[in-house]
Amino acid sequence: MRVLVTGGAGFLGSHLCERLLNEGHDVLCVDNFFTGSKRNIAHLMNNPYFEVMRHDVTFPLYVEVDQIYNLACPASPVHYQHDPVQTTKTSVHGAINMLGLAKRLKARIFQASTSEVYGDPEVHPQPESYWGKVNPIGIRSCYDEGKRCAETLFFDYYRQHNLSIKIARIFNTYGPRMHPNDGRVVSNFVVQALKGEDITIYGEGLQTRSFCYVDDLIEGFLRLMKSEKEITGPINLGNPGEFTIRELAERVIGLTGSKSNLVFRALPQDDPKQRQPDIKIARETLGWEPLIALDEGLNKTIRYFDELLSSSNVD
Ligand code: NAD
Ligand code: UDP
Ligand code: UDP
Repeated sequence: MRVLVTGGAGFLGSHLCERLLNEGHDVLCVDNFFTGSKRNIAHLMNNPYFEVMRHDVTFPLYVEVDQIYNLACPASPVHYQHDPVQTTKTSVHGAINMLGLAKRLKARIFQASTSEVYGDPEVHPQPESYWGKVNPIGIRSCYDEGKRCAETLFFDYYRQHNLSIKIARIFNTYGPRMHPNDGRVVSNFVVQALKGEDITIYGEGLQTRSFCYVDDLIEGFLRLMKSEKEITGPINLGNPGEFTIRELAERVIGLTGSKSNLVFRALPQDDPKQRQPDIKIARETLGWEPLIALDEGLNKTIRYFDELLSSSNVD
């Protein structure tokens, strides 16, 4: 199949492009390189079935493909808050354009949604049936509400135009090719530990997150995309193992053998206190669950950043 991956030069997108090529598909990677980089896809460039197009999904796109994965959108709070208006446009106009493209082509379309649709949740762990607690006017809203509106658009194209849609609600995912400066907690802590710098814990570090290794997540994407048409999602994809941020810092220090100290910084506004996916639906409908434990995934991530930092090939 000819498969379009928007945001294909990003962290998750580059892993997805690689998996799709390995499965024998023809892959078109569309990216405006806002947070993605050519380094993430350099190893795919010689593959004759891989093509890259510099394009911003907020503008219409006329190409011919059989399937679409819509991942384009900065994912780290630092990046999505850098130009919040563009973040909302990317989620909303980007979804409209990709849905219009899918409608014209009668192509199946996947949306990379997020656990952020649950906001600062009052239900724990979060099942798909929970509608969330999101601040509509805060500094995270450009991302949260943009992604919520994208889900609305996907369901309206499904109901109105009978499109085949697949929505994954992705929980915090980590692994090689995260951007070293994108401010997300795993990349920050690993880079700080490897450089022997202070490890910056926001607040007291008692807030929790559940961390999924990238290979597990991509397997979930492919299973969801291959599922029967009536399975639209939204489906939570994430690792139910829940850790406090302080525990994460201690594990990173332990695994790197770093002498870094923990330092405490102000907690960002609207930072969710807890987050853990309920993955019952993914288990039952896709036969999917994460297989890679946190320490194993962190070791692979640490090796990646160690090589990256020593090659000083960071852009
Ligand atoms: P990333 O920032 O590494 O990748 C996003 C990619 O989209 C980048 O390559 C960027 O250049 C590209 N992009 C941004 N705006 C664009 C635009 N207007 N037009 C074209 N390309 C654009 O982030 P990621 O972690 O790989 O996230 C990929 C997707 O998964 C995002 O939609 C994100 O919201 C979602 N997601 C990720 C996580 C996670 O933990 N990594 C969690 C929940 C949801
Ligand atoms: N679109 C696109 N590529 C296509 C078809 C449509 O980018 O191959 C865009 C188009 O710019 C439009 C949007 O998708 O604004 C929504 O398309 P749709 O057909 O749903 O709506 P309409 O064109 O009627 O506004
Ligand atoms: N965090 C932290 N130190 C950092 C970066 C992040 O303590 O250097 C915290 C952040 O406040 C949040 C958690 O780690 O509570 C996860 O942050 P991230 O930006 O990775 O993802 P998100 O908040 O979107 O889940």
